[in-house]
Amino acid sequence: MSTSTPAAQDQRDENAAYLPELTRECEQRGLALQTVGATPDGLAKIQVIVGRRTLVVPPTADLAETLDDFRLIGKCLACRNELDDTATPYHPGYNHIEGSPLMVCQPCRDQQAKIANDPNRLAFSKCMNAVEAVFQASENPAMTRKALREFVDMEASKAGAATAGGLTAEQSAFAADIPLGGWMTAPVESALRDIDDSYTAAENEHMPFLAAKAVITDYRSQAYGRRTEVWLDYGRTTGTLTPAKARDVLAAMAGFCAQFEAVIELAEHEAASDFEGDPEIAAADREAEDRSIRATTEARRAAA
Ligand SMILES: [Zn+2]
Repeated sequence: MSTSTPAAQDQRDENAAYLPELTRECEQRGLALQTVGATPDGLAKIQVIVGRRTLVVPPTADLAETLDDFRLIGKCLACRNELDDTATPYHPGYNHIEGSPLMVCQPCRDQQAKIANDPNRLAFSKCMNAVEAVFQASENPAMTRKALREFVDMEASKAGAATAGGLTAEQSAFAADIPLGGWMTAPVESALRDIDDSYTAAENEHMPFLAAKAVITDYRSQAYGRRTEVWLDYGRTTGTLTPAKARDVLAAMAGFCAQFEAVIELAEHEAASDFEGDPEIAAADREAEDRSIRATTEARRAAA
């Protein structure tokens, strides 16, 4: 870290500790070392002085960083492993002090790409750009800041509610249900629609495959008590469950998934041998069947 005045003495003390090592590094690379003088940006630089390549480290520069940069040559910037042929430059214009580009190994490059393409991260950086644009366009930054802060708090509490057990505010709050004489939450529904063969696809579209809600019945509770249940809809059928029974059902559903998958795998294997029938043979088969029915009918008639 390049330093300004208050930390300058600290920097000098710290630099003194790294000087012997840096001197060795310079010797190995055939560089002269100069720790006085200045560079245009106050950072360590290689300059040609009296015909000799010289590492100039102004007193304000950080020797530890300079040393680290030397040690990073030939290594990946991110993981510091030795570079192989698959390594690529980090970014145009980012070079080591001695001029060669900073490099990143392929595994780190892949990892960075994965992180950079993460939808969450992309959305976040898009949002950051938007925030920046809002401030640039704003004539009243204080008011903009206040509005953004309120918006962020609001969204955060919404997101918090949505992720608290995966329920929205409506799905976790009990609302009065007059006909029932009790209270119920909005249902959670499977994205999958019903798959009942006795209904059309359009009819099934209106019906979730699974839905559940919490229900409290407390009509004249002094007399009849208060009861909390989980109502589980599977297609057009409903099971009313005590919370304990609902837990059993949940465990059974989870257990069933593995068995269901095993059946699917078996069917997938068998489906490899499936084939379409021949329409001509099918027509001939139907005709033969009709003939045989006619023959039977006529024989019965003759016998009668
Ligand atoms: Zn790496």
